[in-house]
Amino acid sequence: MRIVLLGAPGSGKGTQAQRLQAKYGVPQVSSGDLLRDSVARGTELGRKVKSVMDAGQLVSDDLVLGLIRERLGKPDAARGFILDGFPRNIDQANSLNALLKELGQPIDAVLLLDVRGETLVRRLAGRRTCLTCGTVYNVHSMPAGANTCSKDGAQLYQRPDDKEDVVAKRLEVYQTQTQPLIDHYSKLGQLRAVAGEGALEEVFERMEAAALAKPVPAGKVKVTTRKARSTAATKKAPVKKAATKKKASGKKAKARRRPTRKTAAKKSARRKSVKRVPKRRTKARRR
Ligand code: AMP
Repeated sequence: MRIVLLGAPGSGKGTQAQRLQAKYGVPQVSSGDLLRDSVARGTELGRKVKSVMDAGQLVSDDLVLGLIRERLGKPDAARGFILDGFPRNIDQANSLNALLKELGQPIDAVLLLDVRGETLVRRLAGRRTCLTCGTVYNVHSMPAGANTCSKDGAQLYQRPDDKEDVVAKRLEVYQTQTQPLIDHYSKLGQLRAVAGEGALEEVFERMEAAALAKPVPAGKVKVTTRKARSTAATKKAPVKKAATKKKASGKKAKARRRPTRKTAAKKSARRKSVKRVPKRRTKARRR
């Protein structure tokens, strides 16, 4: 399983990647986690990127690519990987393509987690992370007042870039820089859109189905559920175009289906005869 997870911040990429990792035994490779780890360890790279991350901006491509290259070169990634948060722009996508060619590990699919804008903001602002094990919680689904990890009892904290003003910036960066990847991977025939709202388990089932599905022809997006909703962030995605097309043709098909063949034939004959016969002659005939 070699998969790229695409989606706005807060769409659930990390959570779903962890589940895929647990079930399929392939590592989640999160560029955000790799960067946060460098910051926590106080490495030179970590010191360079901290302020950029805290501001919700993208770290420079070469720094992130270096981390990804190193991580994908580790033995456990030879079995496959779930890329979470990388690539984040077209240049990164091209670099990734070159790197994977080098490693002889082409991508199986790119899964787009589709979530509405208002849901993203709510999820990000309510997100809390365990200081030691990194488990992610949300204040909206936690018991009131709880502030420790249910796994190890450690303190939960709010990521500096999950504060409201930074969240807005991150969503803007996603729209301008990352969203063009939807079109990019759709044209390559690798994109599969998954509705990212609903119960975690349901979303996971859709993710699995999309990950294991056979490739679709280039330019056509595989939508795994009819309830797929577009985000503010994915308004221009081909997902929506496809949905609109389907709707339109569905309507036509319905309209055509309603009259029986006989009545349709009669109607059309009537229409033709009215057109052909001049008004005066018609009146004369009636008399
Ligand atoms: P994430 O945990 O994926 O939301 O990433 C947190 C932050 O890390 C982002 O807001 C960026 O500052 C930085 N970051 C993560 N992945 C990338 C990437 N592929 N390219 C540039 N910056 C990234």
